[in-house]
Amino acid sequence: PPPTLLHPDKWCRGFNHFISQCLIKDFENRPSVTHLLEHPFIKQAHGKDMSLQKQLADLIQAQQQLGSITKTRHERIHTRRPYRVDAADKYSLDDDLVNLEVLDEVTIIHQLQKRYADLQIYTYVGDILIALNPFQNLNIYSPQFSKLYHGVKRSSNPPHIFASADAAYQGMVTFSKDQCIIISGESGAGKTESAHLIVQHLTFLGKANNRALREKILQVNPLVEAFGNACTAINDNSSRFGKYLEMMFTPTGAVMGAKISEYLLEKSRVIKQAVGEKNFHIFYYIYAGLFHQKKLSEYRLPEKKPPRYIDNETGRVMQDIITKDSYRQQFEAIQHCFRIIGFTDEEVHSVYRILAGILNTGNIEFAAISSQHQTDKSEVPNPEALDNAAALLSIGSEELQEALTSHCVVTRGETIVRTNTVDKAADVRDAMSKALYGRLFSWIVNRINTLLQPDKNICNADSGMNVGILDIFGFENFTRNSFEQLCINIANEQIQFYFNQHIFALEQMEYQNEGIDATTVVYEDNRPLLDMFLQKPMGLLSLLDEESRFPQATDLTLVDKFEDNLRYKYFWRPKGVELCFGIHILIAAALTVFPPLAFPCNLAQARARVTAASRSLPPQLSAGRLKVDTMEMMRHPEETTNMKRQTVASYFRYSLMDLLSKMVVGQPHFVRCIKPNDDREALKFSHERVLVQLRYTGILETVKIRQKGYSHRILFEEFVKRYYYLAFKVHETPLGSRENCIAILEKSKLDNWILGKTKVFLKYYHIEQLNLFLREVI
Ligand code: ADP
Ligand code: MG
Repeated sequence: PPPTLLHPDKWCRGFNHFISQCLIKDFENRPSVTHLLEHPFIKQAHGKDMSLQKQLADLIQAQQQLGSITKTRHERIHTRRPYRVDAADKYSLDDDLVNLEVLDEVTIIHQLQKRYADLQIYTYVGDILIALNPFQNLNIYSPQFSKLYHGVKRSSNPPHIFASADAAYQGMVTFSKDQCIIISGESGAGKTESAHLIVQHLTFLGKANNRALREKILQVNPLVEAFGNACTAINDNSSRFGKYLEMMFTPTGAVMGAKISEYLLEKSRVIKQAVGEKNFHIFYYIYAGLFHQKKLSEYRLPEKKPPRYIDNETGRVMQDIITKDSYRQQFEAIQHCFRIIGFTDEEVHSVYRILAGILNTGNIEFAAISSQHQTDKSEVPNPEALDNAAALLSIGSEELQEALTSHCVVTRGETIVRTNTVDKAADVRDAMSKALYGRLFSWIVNRINTLLQPDKNICNADSGMNVGILDIFGFENFTRNSFEQLCINIANEQIQFYFNQHIFALEQMEYQNEGIDATTVVYEDNRPLLDMFLQKPMGLLSLLDEESRFPQATDLTLVDKFEDNLRYKYFWRPKGVELCFGIHILIAAALTVFPPLAFPCNLAQARARVTAASRSLPPQLSAGRLKVDTMEMMRHPEETTNMKRQTVASYFRYSLMDLLSKMVVGQPHFVRCIKPNDDREALKFSHERVLVQLRYTGILETVKIRQKGYSHRILFEEFVKRYYYLAFKVHETPLGSRENCIAILEKSKLDNWILGKTKVFLKYYHIEQLNLFLREVI
């Protein structure tokens, strides 16, 4: 069957895929023009394009030329194949930057630009995939494309995100090893889209008989993103949390379940958004959905004036909610997701009630009551908001009011109730909304995990393997950065560190240990910067924690403390009166500046507020009508350790380490997303912007090391065990010796490999070739 029938504009591309398939399959007996013309797809398409025959003739001639080049330059066979019939440099090697003769920024950029103009958004650097955001829908992700990229040599097709997913899947099945796909790039570069496409292809590959399960897995991302993504100045669908999705497979590679872990949801967005930005998508979706279902009053949501938390001074919110079809459609889509994944109607109803409860909570106002004795007491002048929130959250109004307007202090074993000022009460209200939303989000994630866990009757989860897909929030730098940006950027630095470790440091160390001469590639080590953030006790996060223990701490004392202790070139504090500080973030080669109040300096107070807010969370979330399992919902990593000593900074550190521990167990695959311009425009390639991204992600160095280096390093013994079929009889058990490795490699007619003291050093295409042979033999 034809790989795909495309729009005539794109038709040529589909045609090329098809042809390259034919040619690769039958490389030795190259098909003749007549042979190809007999094919039903060609026959069918023939009527559409009279130049077909000429194109075919060109193609086959070129293919023949290719054959002769191939013989002389073995190493390059893997990237040479027909690609675009009409391009002048049809058979150039530019699918993989490793093939470039000249390795400098100008050449690399030029290649990427040329490819981008050609809508070739994907490019390899050895085993790493570079993905340029096309900012338009390309017709290259249909099931036909999934088929095309299934279990074939990577060089058979143009670079593609499916090929990366395929490599991870094949790696998992062949080596019985967990895999991990790490997607990085700045905000709006295409990470989340890439993650979706990977899940799509993996569900295709891991064909379970269980269709329902596949359907469920495909709904996970859209559902979680409705709650965790929002419209920002940079991206209409910006991820405001980090996500690690593990897809679990049986030993034979059938998908059997999925698990999602969430990191650092930007909860502050619930209560406040920057100008031009919005709250989490879900609030608008449910508002529009309930409006059209005429159910707003059931959820105690006003029809005229939108609640404060979603009314971001634009004055258009209500109009958008009423008129925008997309919101309503998204609401329906989300309901569909809930249903497919297996949430009960009651649970969904509870989720909506909590969301409506949060919106109503935001509308609760406070006013000061002055009496002779107490000047810091506040009351609620608009009891209807209080009553609405309390009703939706299933708590008593008085109880809620008391939780918001008072707090307990324990002095010498005695508990004293103190009243809250208006400001403090408002803080507690907002902290409670954030905590509620955070818990709701965690609850949904936990519920999804329960619903998608492997069926024990089919396969024991322990015997399975998984592919993890990491999609975190990308680097951010605003005019007003806050603690969130700090965390986001540290996390990105940490991922870059992992990348550096994997690509440069470990590789070079291994060459040395194995007595192999490999020219050292110099790269920028971001370890000192990470130390500045994370070191104990003198790193930035520790200092922040320490300062937060002083009740008298202020912005000034905090910044002074940083300046006195952070003796790093990355830390910057302007001279003069302005109170702020900046950090040179390496991954973005940028200075992020933090103005006063970026951090709640008096964190002791902030912590007390959060604790007060947790106290005020409605205990009835479980027992009451909401029927949401509170124990589940209340279990939150923030509270696993002693709450008194937990701070936002230490929680962040904990999350980051948790994420890393998950990542490091798998064999990593890297996808580097690049944003070609800041205007979200198709086909617009900004040299400057791309260059910056290439520089800070170390692409140039990566190209160098991938060109010289060996991405696969396998112990002799393991190599022989894996591939002995290729040179020995099935019943033989050859020793894992150097000589036997050579025998296998020579029998497979590979060259350009190297043997170290204990390991075979191979390029990625050797592995492809060996695996392919292996599949043929078995
Ligand atoms: P990130 O997660 O890196 O912030 P997204 O994945 O949300 O970025 O991508 C931002 C936008 O770019 C998407 O909403 C989509 O419009 C566009 N985009 C990204 N990747 C693709 C792609 N492969 N095909 C088409 N559009 C894309
Ligand atoms: Mg994203």
